[in-house]
Amino acid sequence: MNNNVIFLDNASTSKMSEKSAEIFNNYACNNYFNPSAIYSYGAKVHDDIKNAKINIAKHLGTQFNQNLIFCGSATECNNLAIMGCYRKNFGKMIFSVGEHPAVYNTAMHLKSIGANVDFVNLQTNGEIDYDDLKNKLTPDTSFISIMHVSNETGMINDLKKISDIKNHICPKAIFHSDGVQAFGKTKVNVEYFGVDLYTISAHKINGPKGVGALYVKDIKLLNPIIFGGGQEYNLRSGTENVAGIMAFSNAVDEIGDIRANQQHINMLKNEFLNSLSVKEVKINSYGLPHILSLSFDGVNGETLVHMMEQHNILISRGSACSSKKSGNRILENMGLSPSQILGSVRISFSKYNTLSEAKVAGKTLSECYKQLLKTLYNK
Ligand code: PLP
Repeated sequence: MNNNVIFLDNASTSKMSEKSAEIFNNYACNNYFNPSAIYSYGAKVHDDIKNAKINIAKHLGTQFNQNLIFCGSATECNNLAIMGCYRKNFGKMIFSVGEHPAVYNTAMHLKSIGANVDFVNLQTNGEIDYDDLKNKLTPDTSFISIMHVSNETGMINDLKKISDIKNHICPKAIFHSDGVQAFGKTKVNVEYFGVDLYTISAHKINGPKGVGALYVKDIKLLNPIIFGGGQEYNLRSGTENVAGIMAFSNAVDEIGDIRANQQHINMLKNEFLNSLSVKEVKINSYGLPHILSLSFDGVNGETLVHMMEQHNILISRGSACSSKKSGNRILENMGLSPSQILGSVRISFSKYNTLSEAKVAGKTLSECYKQLLKTLYNK
C-alpha cells in the first residue's frame, strides 16, 4: 500500500492504530488461549473479554450487565438484533428507507417470508420523516430499527425523539438502532436514547475488521441465530475473536475527546469545500461532518472516483456495499434527481486526516471535474 495515499473513505473502514495492532498481535500470538478453556490462561483471557465489555459499555452510556454481545461484524450484530427478536405472530416491523444493507436487506428478507414490514421515508435533508413514522407506527408494532447516523450522508436521526414517539404509540415495541457511523463520532448514551439494542463496529473507529458489538438492554429479548458451543450467553456461539475484541476495546479508549475531534473534522470539511472551486456541485450532507455527500452535475461519480485515484486520493461512490450498484435508494428517497445521484460521491474524513490533505483533495476534485466536463462536453 502506498503511504502517499490520501485516504478519504473512512466511513467504509479505517486504519488500525499502532497500539491496537500491537494488542491484536499480542492476543493472536502470545495470549492466544481459548477463553472457554478451564485452565488459568483461558480464564485470564475470559476475564480480559469481560473487562473489554465493561469498558465498551461505559462508552455506550451504560453499565456492563450481560448486555454486550461480540459478533463477527456489525452486519452480524444487525442480523442478530432483527432476526433474533423476530417471533412467530410478530406484529408490524418498522425500518427506515435510509438503512445500511445490513438492516435493509434483512428487513427485505423478512418481508419475503411474510413478515409485516414497512419503511419510513426520509426528509430531503436525509433525516427520517418523524410524521411518517407517527403515521406508520400502530399499537401492534413489535419492532423498530432506525439507524443513528447515515453512512451515506452523515445525517443524525434523533433517537430520543423516536423512542418518545414509540413509547406513546407502541410502548412494548423493541427499538434497535444501527450506531456504526455514530459511535466515536458523536456522544452515545443508549439509556438516554431509550434504545433496546444498539450496534457498533470496530473497524470504523481505527480498530480491526471482523468485530462488532451489540448492546442489548435485556438478553431475554433475543434468540440465537447461530447455534453451537453457547458462547456469549448462548446468543453467539463460536470461539470469541479475542485479539479483535481486545484491539476493539483499545480503539474505544483511543477515540479521545469527541467534541475536539468534531471541531478538527469540521475544519477539514470546510478546507475541502473552500478548495473546491466548482459552482455545479450540490451538498447532500447536513449532519455529522465526517461524511460529506456531494453531487456533481452532468458527470458520473464513479469516473470521478477513478480519476481521483490516479492522483492517489481515495474517495467513494457511497457505502462500500452499494458502491458497485448504479442506483442509490437513500439519495433517491431524499428527492435527488437521477443525474444528481449519478454524479454523487462520498468523502469521509478521519480525525487523523490533515488540513493540507483536505486542501489538496478539494483542489484535485475540482480539476478532475473540470477535465471531465471538457472531455464530455468540450466545456
Ligand atoms: N451499518 C452501517 C451504518 C455501516 O456503515 C456499516 C459499514 O459500512 C455496517 C453497518 C456494516 O459494518 P461491518 O462492516 O462491521 O459489517
